[in-house]
Amino acid sequence: MEKREIKSFTLAELKEEMEQLGEKPFRAVQMYEWMHRKLSRGYGEMSNIPAAMKAKCGENYSYTALRTVAVQESGLDGTKKFLFALADGNVVESVWMRYKHGNSVCISSQVGCRMGCRFCASTLDGLVRNLTPAEMLDQIYAITLETGERVSNVVVMGSGEPLDNYENLLRFITLLTDENGLHVSQRNITVSTCGIVPVMRKLAEERLQITLALSLHAATDEKRRELMPIANQYTLAELMECCAYYFEQTGRRITFEYSLVRDVNDGQTDAQTLASLIRGLNCHVNLIPVNPVRERAYVQSEKRSVEAFAAFLQKRGINATVRREMGRDIDGACGQLRRRFLAEMNEG
Ligand code: SAH
Repeated sequence: MEKREIKSFTLAELKEEMEQLGEKPFRAVQMYEWMHRKLSRGYGEMSNIPAAMKAKCGENYSYTALRTVAVQESGLDGTKKFLFALADGNVVESVWMRYKHGNSVCISSQVGCRMGCRFCASTLDGLVRNLTPAEMLDQIYAITLETGERVSNVVVMGSGEPLDNYENLLRFITLLTDENGLHVSQRNITVSTCGIVPVMRKLAEERLQITLALSLHAATDEKRRELMPIANQYTLAELMECCAYYFEQTGRRITFEYSLVRDVNDGQTDAQTLASLIRGLNCHVNLIPVNPVRERAYVQSEKRSVEAFAAFLQKRGINATVRREMGRDIDGACGQLRRRFLAEMNEG
């Protein structure tokens, strides 16, 4: 049987595990602190833990510590993109961005993705596997150590569909917000989904104070189905009702993500349809000029179309902003760095 990961246990669970190994609860507290606060890369540095206990832990659990394979730094804005190797040899990418209000990390939730969005590089080879809670956390831990700076915001917007890995996502959030760990505030966590309605409802009922971002990208079912296969399963009407429910349950305003693709969804009529679709919802619209992906034919909207689109929404009282593009020079779009790395490995 595969060993369980010691870094995926909550403190309460770790206490129980340690008890079963014949250790005192305070040892669990010490161990938890080494893992989740001091961000140890292994048992070696845990100076106040007895060697016998370390050995027992080593026998019984695996210790997740991602290995940095590559780092790219943007010459434009200091954004850093990390490629990490998991214990089984798979690789995932994460992005570190510095903003005025603090440092933000964008993490992956799966290796690959099975959602099939047409403009996205992460999904080109389908889903390989889910990431565990410890593997999601350790992207943040490894980056904190590499940069030497505190991470204040976390967005689950890298490769993968977080709501397709729901139980691990919830546990990840529990660990990340734990006061005995990095203690990131729920309000500083954003989870982005392509819109899996029943799971969004379940999440609403958790009543977390995180931000839910919905990847909308089109304002009619017909157009959305062209861009996102998930739109064949859930209509926009269902999605909008679900967003209203999310707000009702959590009091948190939804963020709509809308990637602008030239001549596909960036016209005045599109803006108008979008405005009517989301009228009355407590929301914020994030406009993102689509990141061109080599394997895909989509072209970025022109600057003036983006500005006109934003202005149109704003005039109708809709809170809309254009996302600053970070790290354009370093394979900015989801999944691009990983793809390039895998391609080079295969060539080599
Ligand atoms: N699966 C989740 C989260 C990962 S994708 C989701 O669908 O929301 C994070 C965001 O980046 C989504 O809004 C996604 O639609 C968008 N995205 C993916 N590829 C992109 C590209 N090439 N250009 C612009 N946005 C892209």
